[in-house]
Amino acid sequence: MPPPPDLVVWPSTEEEVQAVIAVARRRKLPVIPYGAGSGVCGGTWATHGGVALDLKRLDRIGPVDATARTVDAEAGVMGETLERRLASEGWQLGHTPSSIYMSTVGGWLAARSAGQLSSRWGKIEDMVLSVRAVLGTGERLETPERPFSGPDVAQLLIGSEGTLCAFTRARLRVFPLPEGRAFHGYDFKTVADGLEAIRVMFRAGLRPSVVRLYDPFDTAIVGDKPPHVSTTSPSQAPALSRELLPALFRVLAPQTLGRPGLMNRATHLLRKSRLVLVFEGEAARAADEDAAARTLCQRLGAVSLGPQPAEKWLASRYDVSYRMSKVFEGGAFADTFEVAAPWERVYEVYQKVREAVAAHAFVLCHFSHAYLEGCSLYFSFVGAAPLGQERERYESIWRIALSAAQSAGANVSHHHGVGLLKARALQESLGEGRHALKMLKDFFDPDGIMNPGKLGL
Ligand SMILES: Cc1cc2nc3c(=O)[nH]c(=O)nc-3n(C[C@H](O)[C@H](O)[C@H](O)COP(=O)(O)OP(=O)(O)OC[C@H]3O[C@@H](n4cnc5c(N)ncnc54)[C@H](O)[C@@H]3O)c2cc1C
Repeated sequence: MPPPPDLVVWPSTEEEVQAVIAVARRRKLPVIPYGAGSGVCGGTWATHGGVALDLKRLDRIGPVDATARTVDAEAGVMGETLERRLASEGWQLGHTPSSIYMSTVGGWLAARSAGQLSSRWGKIEDMVLSVRAVLGTGERLETPERPFSGPDVAQLLIGSEGTLCAFTRARLRVFPLPEGRAFHGYDFKTVADGLEAIRVMFRAGLRPSVVRLYDPFDTAIVGDKPPHVSTTSPSQAPALSRELLPALFRVLAPQTLGRPGLMNRATHLLRKSRLVLVFEGEAARAADEDAAARTLCQRLGAVSLGPQPAEKWLASRYDVSYRMSKVFEGGAFADTFEVAAPWERVYEVYQKVREAVAAHAFVLCHFSHAYLEGCSLYFSFVGAAPLGQERERYESIWRIALSAAQSAGANVSHHHGVGLLKARALQESLGEGRHALKMLKDFFDPDGIMNPGKLGL
């Protein structure tokens, strides 16, 4: 269990946030800004007790300014609420993280979140025009709006994970809902061929909103079957799937997952790497871009599978993250691990992390969130360990995976943030920037009350 705070407060105005921080400052109490708690790096752990500043009651959404194409949203607005509200008026933010049902605008800004469509619409830091925040001094800061001159102060605060300020509001860019979408799936013979296709596509000016390349194991798991939509609740499922199959899994999982080396070697038998692409926007343009991507992929040896794999991905795009509990119920463990790397390093990062983790856990990877300079690698690992050694095994997998990724040229995180889990790795990767970050911390939070320990601060 994470260490709990001493107190939870639910301010509903910026003034109340200021008042809480003023009291905390006087009493030298840690303040832990809290969105929806979906962060996966321990960013909301109250390591020194203190006040959890839950911002979910800051939940107002302003009207869309159709000329400027902006919307103001308070920090506690949930992702799903915002996208539904915008969609009802013909707009979208285009920010759809897998955690959209359980993450907030403030949490996105704090942890540099990326939605599934980031290759086309950008990450949250590309969508934000200005922010309002309460600093660790208790003062309110509103940053100027783009276009402006001089340094961008909003960008100094974005990614600070509650260590400098509590965000209270943001002005965000909106886009009209896409008029059309073009879907396509391809099978490549190797991961390297698929990566080359994505790189060439971006350099040629194509901007799919969804780009996902699955390595052979992940391709096998994604499979060819259409998505299964269940019409019965789990309690009404037949006894076989309700009781017998989970029990079988519980017996078999530790046996099979206890021998990850064997399973990882079997990847060599699988020879397909699947790419899923979605283009969206003006219908004719999406179709043209889809045709250009097809020519390019086929030139690199890909087999076209038509629209089905990408349509299937869209239909089940929020499901997969919620399936992990079954693995834990089966007596095993699973986690995900994401980093980003420039094109010339991506394949090496993939190989090195796989090699490092292969003996300890079963590893899958997909590549997504592509840009001109590179893309993100999203590893999933599943393992089991003898009773009592699970935690040690799990933690050593994290350590060796992160160290292998960094030494092969990856950054620390693409979109899950840093929190406690990757704090040391971040500090090591900052080089001289460490001092600049410490100076910012001392300036914005002179008493060191804001989210102590996170980002290594
Ligand atoms: C199943 C699952 C799927 C996920 N998929 C994605 C994904 O596709 N893309 C992605 O980007 N992330 C994803 N995540 C990670 C997580 O959703 C993001 O990090 C998200 O940005 C966290 O938002 P939150 O509101 O839940 O923040 P929290 O978890 O509450 O907080 C995260 C960090 O931000 C700080 N913080 C929160 N609110 C504020 C604020 N108002 N001001 C200052 N600091 C604040 C906290 O102190 C903490 O350090 C996923 C997580 C899960 C569990």
